Amino acid sequence: MLEPISEFYHSLNAVGRTTMITTPILLLAVAVLLILERKFPYRKGLPFFREGLFVDLFWYTLVQSYFLQILIFGFIIAPLAAHFGARFHLVSSWPVVAQVAFFVVTHDFYIYWFHRFQHSSAFFWRTHEAHHSGKQVDWLAGSRSHAVEIIINQTIEFAPIILLGANPVVVPIKALIDAVWGMYIHANIDVKSGKLQYFINGPEMHLWHHADHEEVYYANFSTKFAVWDWLFGTAFLPQNRKPERWGLPYAFPKDYFSQHAFSVMRFDEKALAERSAAFRAYHGVRWRVLSWLGERVPAAKVLQGWEVPEEVHETVPAPRPGGNPTAAEAVAPESPRPAVTAAP
Ligand SMILES: [Zn+2]
Ligand SMILES: [Zn+2]
Repeated sequence: MLEPISEFYHSLNAVGRTTMITTPILLLAVAVLLILERKFPYRKGLPFFREGLFVDLFWYTLVQSYFLQILIFGFIIAPLAAHFGARFHLVSSWPVVAQVAFFVVTHDFYIYWFHRFQHSSAFFWRTHEAHHSGKQVDWLAGSRSHAVEIIINQTIEFAPIILLGANPVVVPIKALIDAVWGMYIHANIDVKSGKLQYFINGPEMHLWHHADHEEVYYANFSTKFAVWDWLFGTAFLPQNRKPERWGLPYAFPKDYFSQHAFSVMRFDEKALAERSAAFRAYHGVRWRVLSWLGERVPAAKVLQGWEVPEEVHETVPAPRPGGNPTAAEAVAPESPRPAVTAAP
């Protein structure tokens, strides 16, 4: 029975074979994190089918990463490699483990500084706010990253691997490490790692980074190694305290395309739906499909999501880079119409 699998495996190249191993590891990591989230929740009562799960899973994790992978590798890195390819062999003679370790550490150092920059630049904040928009943070929440942010970060991540002459298997191995560590730091797990949190980053510090508390607007930028935050004075880790407010201090669109449009032009998604029939029709597609499905398959009703329970409602005075958009700035309806029924 295993023979066809073994034949298929041997017909693959080294990258294909590595992917055959990294994919099951990734799925196993998802299963382990999901179990740990249920057993040791950081925030109790966070549902699996939380607000925005569909957008994160379908649009960001599947569709966006598929197309951006083609764009980044096929249209940015491949031409770069064709141009510079044969000139650099800096890491070619190193063992694969050393190559992976080198790229994990150097890219993590870069990402700390770029992430910190995104939190201070009004322009680059627009490419990062989507990542902070979810109010229910869990294993999949980290996948919500603006396309521009992914293009910049993954080009800077994978181009050196190719250009410095690394073994091509470093790409899927590094991608697996990114995915698992990314899911881990966002997972709703009550981790208490003690002194390890000075070096290895986890939910303990990164969940605070997703809190809507002034103290963390400029703190906890590390992704994999928390040591950068401790070294460069941006660590925030209060004892025996958890965030009360999450996400952004201003309204943020809930749809993938609206989230990207919002980074270019501020608008009020609900007001726009009231004003424009075309937008209302588009915006309501997901809701109508899910309602139709929910009527026929009762178990699918949970896919519709529900309002996010907010523990504290007061607004936060400090603005995010570029200022917090308010309802007054946003596109207002020309003439008030009856309530929108397109979306919840
Ligand atoms: Zn951030
Ligand atoms: Zn995050």
